[in-house]
Amino acid sequence: MKKTSVFSLLLVLLAAYSQGFAQQPSTDEINTRIRKEGNENSQIMRTMHFLTDVYGPRLTGSPNLKAAGEWAANRMRSWGFENAHLEPWDFGHPGWVNERLTAHIISPVQDVLTCEVLAWTPGTNGTVSAEVYQMILPEKPTQEDFTKFLSAEASKVKGKIVFAGKHQIVPVTIAPPSARIDDKQAKERFDPNNPNAGAFGNRGPRQQEQQQQQEGPKPLTPAQINEQLDQFLVSNGALIRVNDAGREHRQIRAFNNRTFDLTKALPTIVMSNEDYGRITRILADVAPVQLEFIIVNHIYPEGKTAYNTIAEIPGTDKKDEVVMLGGHLDSWHAATGATDNAIGCAVMMEAARILKVIGVKPRRTIRVALWSGEEQGLLGSQAYVKEHFGSAEEPKPEFSKLVAYFNIDSGTGRARGAGVFGPPEAATIVREALAPFEDLGVAGAIATKGRAIGGSDHTSFNHAGLPGIGMNQDPIEYGSATWHTNLDTYERIIEDDAKKSAIVVAAAVYQLAMRDEMLPRFTKESMPAPPPPPAPAATRPATPTPTQARPQTSSGL
Ligand SMILES: [Zn+2]
Repeated sequence: MKKTSVFSLLLVLLAAYSQGFAQQPSTDEINTRIRKEGNENSQIMRTMHFLTDVYGPRLTGSPNLKAAGEWAANRMRSWGFENAHLEPWDFGHPGWVNERLTAHIISPVQDVLTCEVLAWTPGTNGTVSAEVYQMILPEKPTQEDFTKFLSAEASKVKGKIVFAGKHQIVPVTIAPPSARIDDKQAKERFDPNNPNAGAFGNRGPRQQEQQQQQEGPKPLTPAQINEQLDQFLVSNGALIRVNDAGREHRQIRAFNNRTFDLTKALPTIVMSNEDYGRITRILADVAPVQLEFIIVNHIYPEGKTAYNTIAEIPGTDKKDEVVMLGGHLDSWHAATGATDNAIGCAVMMEAARILKVIGVKPRRTIRVALWSGEEQGLLGSQAYVKEHFGSAEEPKPEFSKLVAYFNIDSGTGRARGAGVFGPPEAATIVREALAPFEDLGVAGAIATKGRAIGGSDHTSFNHAGLPGIGMNQDPIEYGSATWHTNLDTYERIIEDDAKKSAIVVAAAVYQLAMRDEMLPRFTKESMPAPPPPPAPAATRPATPTPTQARPQTSSGL
């Protein structure tokens, strides 16, 4: 062939190629572009740096969280997203920030103590130095037992730093939990023909039912014990309450005063299990023990209004239909909330950014949502669903327009599969969208039909009868080290895993935004009944008592 004819053949091929390009790039072509952008130009760690180092921790109602939301909205605007804004909802509690904490043993030895402050508790108003009194709480007391116990303790706590409970023995971990789900297991979890697929990670109400079936006077719940103990310590003149963190390697999970009312609790510390144990042993041998604390907390009344952060890539011919993706932006306050859940936000922002950058024109609108109030009970996403969609039983006009909501909230591990609320046909479509990414570790999708609130924000959608999609992930160090702890920082992120998750989600979101039909849903007849509203005592204890640790879940709040 002559040089000129080779050249003109190339031109013809190029023209045909680019014409096809302009019309409808093939799925393979789109997936290749998604992979390339996600791997070569990832913004995930840049986003992580701001959300954690600069704006963390991001407790709901705090100015940090609002600033993080504003930063994210601005960043998505700079990527070309539209309609980026903060959407208010009524949190109802003031913002709270711990600004300063020093904790020392000053007698009989001098040393620094590893502690965190319980959220929505007061500060110390200067330096507090006092003797320790350790209160050994009764196990599973009834109201009568506990009232009797407290009245015997009343004279012992005045002017004291009170250790609430005995030291918890945390066994040394010999065999660490596996950091990745093996491929065979992942396939089984997301195999539609496996009758046990989807059974993993589910926590049922079984335990509560069993408790309720017990004969005789019921034992108090951990939440009831905590609240009564707080009340008792405040009214009997104790100075500080100290809880045992009860975890290995100086890990601390500090949650909140469940009443959110600072007058109803003392300044409250969660102390590392190691320091709590050391002081317990010294008390038994060389009492008295003297400790010293300085705690400065700040209250922000304007935090009563909290915000979800929203931004969109507008659709074209089906732009009133929406594919949503997101995660919660709020965190606990003991660290900067990297794996829970800045990384989920960074991954979902990245998935949408990839689609924007590769220049596709989605038929449906793609909407990113970064929630707040998740850690206090999925409050921000529930408020959003109520406001925009209503529920299957009381739908608003937008109810019929949501294709699906993708959620990611189980740490830094790569996505391994999806649980899709809806009929099996819905999971099949998501499975097909994920299938080209088996090499990145994603095993498939299975249908779910539970409408109980719990786990993470996709269940706010499921609860309403909307198609929530929860991504399952490799555990890495989530349950064992970072989830809700003082170790949850930028350093614990595996960038390569997060990139894989973003690529996989981008591809699935794109497919759902382009199909002729929406994702199949339950019909009116096949829609599972909503669960009864939980009794107040059945909600998770925000302040676990020493006698009952929080339940572990595979995709916890
Ligand atoms: Zn979370």
